Amino acid sequence: MAVDVREPEVRPHELTAPDGLRYAEVDGQRYRRRNPAGAWLLVFASLMTYAVVWQYRANDEARRFLGDRTITPALSALAVMIGLAAPVPLIVLLVLALTGTSVGLTGWLLGAAALVVIPIPLIVSVYRTGGRISRMQERAGLEPSVSPLLGVALSPAMLHVPLYQSELNLIWGAPRSLPGVGLIKGLLVTLKHLLQPSITQQYPREKPDLPARTRGVIALKPENCTVCWKCSKECPDWCIYIESHKETHEPASGGRARSAKVLDRFAIDFALCMYCGICVEVCPFDALFWSPEFEYAEYDLLELLHEKDRLRDWTYKVKPPPELEVGAEPEPPEEEEEEDVAPASVTPIAEPGTAAPEQPAAEPQPEQPAAEGRPAEPAERVEVEPDQATYERVLQEQLDAGVNPRVAEGRAKAAALRAARQQAEGGGG
Ligand code: SF4
Ligand code: SF4
Repeated sequence: MAVDVREPEVRPHELTAPDGLRYAEVDGQRYRRRNPAGAWLLVFASLMTYAVVWQYRANDEARRFLGDRTITPALSALAVMIGLAAPVPLIVLLVLALTGTSVGLTGWLLGAAALVVIPIPLIVSVYRTGGRISRMQERAGLEPSVSPLLGVALSPAMLHVPLYQSELNLIWGAPRSLPGVGLIKGLLVTLKHLLQPSITQQYPREKPDLPARTRGVIALKPENCTVCWKCSKECPDWCIYIESHKETHEPASGGRARSAKVLDRFAIDFALCMYCGICVEVCPFDALFWSPEFEYAEYDLLELLHEKDRLRDWTYKVKPPPELEVGAEPEPPEEEEEEDVAPASVTPIAEPGTAAPEQPAAEPQPEQPAAEGRPAEPAERVEVEPDQATYERVLQEQLDAGVNPRVAEGRAKAAALRAARQQAEGGGG
């Protein structure tokens, strides 16, 4: 027999019906949206009659929508009707037993066999209905999401009705609306975590092992500070306070005496600090660091002004820098950083009775541009597309190394961009 199955020609937008409308219309045919929960409740309210009716209607819609004449809704409904009669023999046997009639072992065995055999047409029908709905979703241009096996598993409680109906509603342009699914999913997540070992850290008894790049607080290594004032000038909150004095030192090998600035006070007001990290970035002498320390809360805002000694203590908690990420550019040579600032901290002074030499002053220079000391911006940023081969290679390497997929993607993208930029710059220059 020739099967008239139409080619997929329906697009999802043709199926959508405005919210509130209970029908969607396709090729002049009407298909009804039903409330999944309402359909399920109606099954029991109608003493299972609606299960048969629903089976007929769902298969009728499949027949019309797919144009598949081999689908016989009446047969599907009959299969459900037969399946629903499965408990009847057992109920009769129970009634007979309760009324004192001897049933015998054979009778009980027959009743149990009936309970197993009679539902088979219902199971087959539910399974095939699920398959048809899956085909309908395909024809509507949707990703098939219905599971016939799940439908069969839920059929003893008639839950295949709301499951399939919600899938049908998707085809008719309604959002997924099976009530309680979100709640069940949430409870499953809770259950999953309930059964896993706890990962709660018993802070403050247990201290967290924070990553090396944690922005806890800013620490100072005073020995490295040359009082160049860069951090203080660049700080957008003006919350770094530096005081110093000059000292003159006679060189042991003779020659002119030299003056050097000595740090008297270095304080940061963490009530004002916004943790932007600019001071750490601009310090040319590695005197400022991010420390993972975070336990420095105070009861009074004014006590958040921390002085040099406390800032120094925090340097002992600074962790060694982590290894560079895959594909990261190496650090620039240190000499480039020191060139424009180093002379400012040690200044030759005049011999007594002679004219002062004209050396650049070590004091803050207001006329200097504010961006001085920051890493030089590239003159022209080459706009490139990420290198796909590098992206895939690095992503795979990271995933193989057991790195979190989100982190792996980020690293792969960064590496791909750098590779593409290097290629572009290499090709251009
Ligand atoms: S982190 Fe930013 S706001 Fe805080 S002291 Fe440094 S430059 Fe100033
Ligand atoms: S930028 Fe660095 S070296 Fe200069 S004053 Fe600030 S902490 Fe000291």
